[in-house]
Amino acid sequence: MPDLDQNEGVLLGANVSVAKTGLLAAVEETIAYDANTFMIYTRSNRGGKARPIEDFNRDAGLARMDEHGIVDPVVHLSYLVNLASPKADIWTYGVSVLKEEIERVSYLGFRYIVMHPGSHVGEGVDYAIGRIVEGLNTVLTGDEPLWVCLETMAGDGSKVGNSLEEIAEIIARVDHPDKLGVCIDTCHNYSFGYDIVNDFDGFLQKFDDVLGLDRLKCAHINDSKNPFGSRKDRHANIGEGTIGLDALRRIVHHPQLRGIPQILETPAGQYRDEINQLLGRTPSA
Ligand code: FE
Ligand code: FE
Ligand code: ZN
Repeated sequence: MPDLDQNEGVLLGANVSVAKTGLLAAVEETIAYDANTFMIYTRSNRGGKARPIEDFNRDAGLARMDEHGIVDPVVHLSYLVNLASPKADIWTYGVSVLKEEIERVSYLGFRYIVMHPGSHVGEGVDYAIGRIVEGLNTVLTGDEPLWVCLETMAGDGSKVGNSLEEIAEIIARVDHPDKLGVCIDTCHNYSFGYDIVNDFDGFLQKFDDVLGLDRLKCAHINDSKNPFGSRKDRHANIGEGTIGLDALRRIVHHPQLRGIPQILETPAGQYRDEINQLLGRTPSA
């Protein structure tokens, strides 16, 4: 018998598809998981022109969200964006996609865009941070009705934004820091070397010291295929990795994460079961 109170205020959902009917498809998938939030990509990670956002059945989708108490979805920016790139054409592409995505997400009326800070591809972290700041300053006017959330990364490749300090430095140097938030990712944080299994409180304390907890806008909830501190980014299904179900359950129910959208990005096909497990719900047919 699930304790009804234990899940009070917990927002948990998954990375869902907008294939065919757009927002409506994402919401129907979320309803099928009995989840109360979700994440989407509004454009293909393979590039090409974005599908017009007017074709996403926004109003029907929003109405279904309302009926089912689904709130505060997150939009993940395309993986192809790299504002840290030393290549002018890649940086310019990133700037234009971010600008366009802010308009698209504003049209949908959602509050959070999550983006990877970028990869320096050999130029080093200091260079990369400067480029990212330049990109954000080119795009952000301060009038955006949403937060651009920088995701904490796993330390793989030449990624930037692995440590909370790197994220803090980017935010400190942008012209409109009030438009920036942070998205943590359990797989990334654990792989990078934050021991969220044994001391999630310590991690949040550190987050508060370095960034301020009011910057924490969303969380990605993933198990990890690799050991602590491995600096590898491979997500595992919940309970099948090195983080484990117990730790992820504690994180999902942490008082500081109440009201913050928490999103599964685990290998597809098990979202409903994983959400049930995390919330301690009895699986139904
Ligand atoms: Fe991500
Ligand atoms: Fe993530
Ligand atoms: Zn990842």
